[in-house]
Amino acid sequence: MADKKKMVEAITSMDVDFAQWYTDVVKKAELCDYASVKGCMVIKPAGYAIWENIQKELDRRFKESGVENVYMPMFIPESLLQKEKDHVEGFAPEVAWVTHGGLEPLQERMCVRPTSETLFCDFYAKDIQSYRDLPRVYNQWCSVVRWEKTTRPFLRSREFLWQEGHTAHATAEEAEERTIQMLNLYADFCEEVLALPVIRGQKTDKEKFAGAESTYTIEALMHDGKALQSGTSHNFGDGFAKAFEIQFTDKDNTLKHVHQTSWGMSTRLIGAIIMAHGDDNGLVLPPRIAPVQVMIVPIQQKKEGVLDKAYELKNRLIKAGFSVKADDTDKSPGWKFADCEMRGIPLRVEIGPKDMEQNQAVLVRRDNHEKTIVSLDELETKVGEMLDTIQKAMLEKARTHRDAHTYEATSWEEFTDTINNKPGFVKAMWCGSQECEDKIKEDTGATSRCMPFAQEHLADTCVCCGKPAKKMVYWGRAY
Ligand code: ZN
Repeated sequence: MADKKKMVEAITSMDVDFAQWYTDVVKKAELCDYASVKGCMVIKPAGYAIWENIQKELDRRFKESGVENVYMPMFIPESLLQKEKDHVEGFAPEVAWVTHGGLEPLQERMCVRPTSETLFCDFYAKDIQSYRDLPRVYNQWCSVVRWEKTTRPFLRSREFLWQEGHTAHATAEEAEERTIQMLNLYADFCEEVLALPVIRGQKTDKEKFAGAESTYTIEALMHDGKALQSGTSHNFGDGFAKAFEIQFTDKDNTLKHVHQTSWGMSTRLIGAIIMAHGDDNGLVLPPRIAPVQVMIVPIQQKKEGVLDKAYELKNRLIKAGFSVKADDTDKSPGWKFADCEMRGIPLRVEIGPKDMEQNQAVLVRRDNHEKTIVSLDELETKVGEMLDTIQKAMLEKARTHRDAHTYEATSWEEFTDTINNKPGFVKAMWCGSQECEDKIKEDTGATSRCMPFAQEHLADTCVCCGKPAKKMVYWGRAY
């Protein structure tokens, strides 16, 4: 297969230019395309099928935890957006406005939702009266619009798909519990399904969500050593409830404000999958999220019985519960292998006349290119085992990569030297002041990713100012 790269257009090597590699993979694996509206994307079948699998599995987990789905309007009247001061300041610079309905100017302009806290709050204010109405644990699957200046497919686009959960609770404790519960649900999903190890922690005040009391986050490390915030969960306390007058009569007959949370994950996750697992041959999809888990490639398919055998194997594997396709196009096997690799299909099954004689097939793993010959008598079992092995190996590989690119710094010199020369996470102590965060960002381009739940005591003093340290923070350059 020395010349297989010629058969499928070569992509830029990730070590040469990671950004270009990313763009090439997105395009050549046919995940999405640019739209005529600048900064928006057309998500193509191969990309949308990944999103559908993300949606299916997340939704299942949400519902298991008591979440109900609803749908809110896409427009927010300006007066509503302005009710919570921090929130409007955080989002106003990037909202898109609707000023006309048909030919008539609107009395009040409306924005296209950048997020829907205000709509849920407006609704909850009318909908919740008594403690019996609580908790409300709602979620919606929708798209939101943020008028970003620089955009990149899946990572930052002006319109993107996501889910946003919005809950209301009787007590502060219950709201905090739900906030953490959803963060853990996200983290487990990333690790178990996307094979993406994440750091769980809390955002600093500077990095928290506009209007939130506290924001929790999961942070993943990409192949190039940059961090990617992969999901966030916010505790609003009763701040929004006070601004929107969301009150309920409690069991003791007094009027109280609800406590709220919100949490979201988006099509950014597809960007995370690409950048955490991909290689110079293209996309590498974890079996549990891959729309096509197995591709059957017939060898010498013009020989009698080969195609029939390929279809037979395909049907057997589909019956066993796998997602399978057979590549019966008239392209050469080499081209088909490279195409499978580009699209990140976890397992390839090769079947030709010689294999048929021996009652066997060749399984080839996408993640490490390893070949195994298996008897057709135990095809289903072997394929299942192999997919499980790939899923585990991918998580392990990503974890090893992350750990090998996680550093510690206890002095300013060490810190700047590491950030500038070793892409990855840097763990360092912090005094808790925003001045130090600002200085770190200005001098190194790194931001505080999170204060991990798993705290370590690396030193007594802040890596930036030398004052007594309060927290250990993960720092890094981020997408
Ligand atoms: Zn400091």
